[in-house]
Amino acid sequence: MNEQLRLTIDDREITAQANQTILEVARENEIPIPTLCFLEGLSGAGSCRLCLVEVRGVPRFLSSCVTRVSEGMNVTTDSPKLASYRRMILELLLAERNHICAFCVSSGNCELQDLAQELGVTHVNYPYRFPSYDVDASHERFVYDPNRCVMCTRCARACGEVEGAHTWDVMGRGVHSFMITDLNQAWGDSSTCTSCGKCVQACPTGALAEKGRSTGEMKRSAGFLSKLSSMRNCGR
Ligand code: SF4
Ligand code: SF4
Repeated sequence: MNEQLRLTIDDREITAQANQTILEVARENEIPIPTLCFLEGLSGAGSCRLCLVEVRGVPRFLSSCVTRVSEGMNVTTDSPKLASYRRMILELLLAERNHICAFCVSSGNCELQDLAQELGVTHVNYPYRFPSYDVDASHERFVYDPNRCVMCTRCARACGEVEGAHTWDVMGRGVHSFMITDLNQAWGDSSTCTSCGKCVQACPTGALAEKGRSTGEMKRSAGFLSKLSSMRNCGR
């Protein structure tokens, strides 16, 4: 049985289990923390940094999706400084690739777009890079547009952890990093992809989509991933 402990989040005293993350405990207690790379049912990556929180006595922000709670911890999930960091992260993501919502299959059903609205990103203070990456439409059912990718790696985790195919991986570093399939082959030539579509459902933007979708037509539902994961964990 897990040890119970007590902590404070946004001035509320809360009981939690020692193996929980700050994000899990906050969500259980209906305290909202924005996330992008996190997806229920997948391991935490801590890469997008949107779920940063302040922990008293710690001289830097911590990613709440990968930080476990501890006895007496005092967490702040919202402050002017956190809000400004989160807006900056979103602006950098928007400037890094081509997020032109008016021409995107996921417009209206995009977590990046929703977050920008929620967190009050009204303009981007950084120069747009406007990269021009080739779209991979080689798969018979799906399409990958790296121009819309935010490198959250949800596709790779869904494919590896839930489907067990391990088709997706990251190539390169920083702004030059890419999601690739197999050993950087065209997706349609992948020998590992089972065409299950879990990566497409997990993607928060228009980077992965079903073929044949027009602007705003790509709707997704990633809720089944957490159900699949918990059913598997029950069987262990
Ligand atoms: S369709 Fe399924 S197997 Fe293929 S890359 Fe996506 S998650 Fe992996
Ligand atoms: S393709 Fe989608 S799910 Fe994969 S890293 Fe890019 S944005 Fe995330």
